[in-house]
Amino acid sequence: MYIDSHCHINFPKLAAKMPELLAKMEENKVTHALCVSVDLPDFPSVLALAEQYPHIYASVGTHPDYEDTPEPTVEQLVQLADNPKIVAIGETGLDYYRLEGDLEWQRERFRTHIRASRITRKPLIIHTRAASADTIRLMQEEGAGTDAGGVGGVMHCFTESLEVAEAAIAMGFYISFSGIVTFKSAKDLQAVARAVPLERMLIETDSPYLAPVPFRGRMNEPGYVRHVAEYISTLKDIPLEQVARQTTDNFFNLFNIVR
Ligand SMILES: [Zn+2]
Ligand SMILES: [Zn+2]
Repeated sequence: MYIDSHCHINFPKLAAKMPELLAKMEENKVTHALCVSVDLPDFPSVLALAEQYPHIYASVGTHPDYEDTPEPTVEQLVQLADNPKIVAIGETGLDYYRLEGDLEWQRERFRTHIRASRITRKPLIIHTRAASADTIRLMQEEGAGTDAGGVGGVMHCFTESLEVAEAAIAMGFYISFSGIVTFKSAKDLQAVARAVPLERMLIETDSPYLAPVPFRGRMNEPGYVRHVAEYISTLKDIPLEQVARQTTDNFFNLFNIVR
């Protein structure tokens, strides 16, 4: 069995084909998926999926790329996370690639999420792009890690260096690989995936984005996460079954889900 630890199946294009999407998951032995919130207006649709389907979980948070959206407070996040199907805070983090100028608001928003994670004891889903030094610095300053009284979390859709991965792992975080790792051009990332211990690894689609080879360029969906697992098993030269079992165990451990 496989788990898609990060998807956006509440986005209209995917939500419109939910029966096909669930059938494709079943066909590929993808038993669970975590539907990740990107801002507060979108949260009800994320929560609705988690409440409707026993094998879909959800998170609450506001993505760093969403500029014109209500700013969440710590209290709001804590209150919205108070539901057994909400297993994480995020996605949150820093993205200096998409947006330019004074991004202090992004850092402030990230701090808010880390504080909510510490209060709720629910792990963080962290997005970082072109901002790894500040991301790690804020994680340390706010005590996001298990080494500092936090509960850790996952560095999702990881595309940074091994040094960044190791810094996050030292704080008790997991590293999640998406379909990007299967791309021919992703040589550096493949070396990182080879070095990251399977015990600290999750797999995801980040659908509808970033479909893995052989579906690159098409709309992504949770069923395709199996291809990420297959690629990692080849990369690490270990049995596919081992990748499936360990990444599944990691998911349930990190998000405190009782099986
Ligand atoms: Zn992201
Ligand atoms: Zn995402």
